[in-house]
Amino acid sequence: MRLSRYFIPILKETPAEAQIVSHRLMLRAGMIRQASAGIYSWLPLGYKALRKIEAIVHDEQQKAGAIPVLMPTIQSADLWRESGRYDAYGPEMLRIKDRHDRDMLYGPTNEEQITEIAGAGIRSYRDLPTILYHIQWKFRDEVRPRFGIMRGREFLMKDGYSFDIDKAGATHSYNRMFVSYLRTFERMGLKAVPMRADSGPIGGDMTHEFLILADTGESAVFLDSDIADLSLGADKIDWEDAEGLQGIVDRWTSAYARTDETHEEAVFNAEVPEARRVTARGIEVGHIFYFGTKYSEAMNAKVAGPEGSPVAFESGSYGIGVSRLVGAIIEANHDDKGMIWPEAVAPFEVAVINLKQGDAEADAACESLYDNLNARGFDALYDDRNERAGSKFATIDLIGVPWKLIVGPRGLKEGVVELVNRRTGEAVNLSPDEALNRLSAQFGRA
Ligand code: ATP
Ligand code: MG
Repeated sequence: MRLSRYFIPILKETPAEAQIVSHRLMLRAGMIRQASAGIYSWLPLGYKALRKIEAIVHDEQQKAGAIPVLMPTIQSADLWRESGRYDAYGPEMLRIKDRHDRDMLYGPTNEEQITEIAGAGIRSYRDLPTILYHIQWKFRDEVRPRFGIMRGREFLMKDGYSFDIDKAGATHSYNRMFVSYLRTFERMGLKAVPMRADSGPIGGDMTHEFLILADTGESAVFLDSDIADLSLGADKIDWEDAEGLQGIVDRWTSAYARTDETHEEAVFNAEVPEARRVTARGIEVGHIFYFGTKYSEAMNAKVAGPEGSPVAFESGSYGIGVSRLVGAIIEANHDDKGMIWPEAVAPFEVAVINLKQGDAEADAACESLYDNLNARGFDALYDDRNERAGSKFATIDLIGVPWKLIVGPRGLKEGVVELVNRRTGEAVNLSPDEALNRLSAQFGRA
């Protein structure tokens, strides 16, 4: 993309209404624009970040065995009357009437919709397990929408649902999603800690929230510092190996990690040595929940079991806050100049900065670098505006491009361009070819 032809409506002033850094930076960098309270338009840069995050979620869901579908945003109230949630849900649900005076609603979640689909379409226990998911807009009329897209009223969620014949199957599905979430967040450069969540009337310990530690998080969290040091790394995962997955889940749940909803001070103090006790704040980016036959019983969604008689599905639901992640990643990755995008989700991966626009040699070198970056599959941004160098740096650093290729007449006389890392500030002079090779190696695109 050439910056001169792109649309990044940067704000000069820091917006006063934004209380946290991700919201301020997203507004300043022209990534989003508020349409009404808690409802945003995603402008080109924000939309690009959202799509990159979404792509990783899709990829990891499918690797773990979940199947993508797309359900509508508008649902019929009748479905929710079957499960009993139409009245129970409360004022967060946006209720609508169509022209025939039928009760409709803008979906805050999709358990009912998917249970109806599974009940109608899955015939036999032999067809299980089945995990279906979609990435779709949700609406919840939050009392206090705030922090920009972090707590919106309209927001993008990945919600998945598993269908199994028994508790053992459901546990395997739950563990698939648990481990898949570890992978997903790690791939985005995030440290997300699974914490025991409140299982409410369902009971049991198969519900976890995944939280990113950040001072601006809405939840108080209490954890053993050991758990923050765990990582899956490059370990290969066998998704069909129920025991192996259980082992990973056990490793990640053996140490104390809870939010204020489930925290027990006495247990915390007894289980965790003082030096490892961390009290912090966190942003919830995912939530997985085993709910057994709650919806399948209520909605009569059954399959033929091994003995032939109909058996209600054992199910769980698995959410990821896709749009919230954009803000969470910025909260975890910024400095006083702006955002610092992790490479895996960076809207633009490399910026070519022309220090002297209009200089024939500098222009030609930039054009060639830009073409080569595109040919090598990079998401490259060429700052070809007729602006002072200082203003170009300010823009590129604000939007957090992880790598800069700085091109000017002086360097070109020596045959070099400067390659600068946004996070470390480390800079090296390299020939244009070497710089391209260095970047290809860095991104594994040799
Ligand atoms: P919270 O406690 O933050 O209200 P929740 O428990 O209601 O979240 P879930 O129903 O489990 O959330 O939804 C799954 C995921 O969707 C959450 O983990 C969160 O990342 C995201 N999410 C929920 N509500 C919002 C919102 N209002 N704006 C943006 N993302 C949201
Ligand atoms: Mg909520």
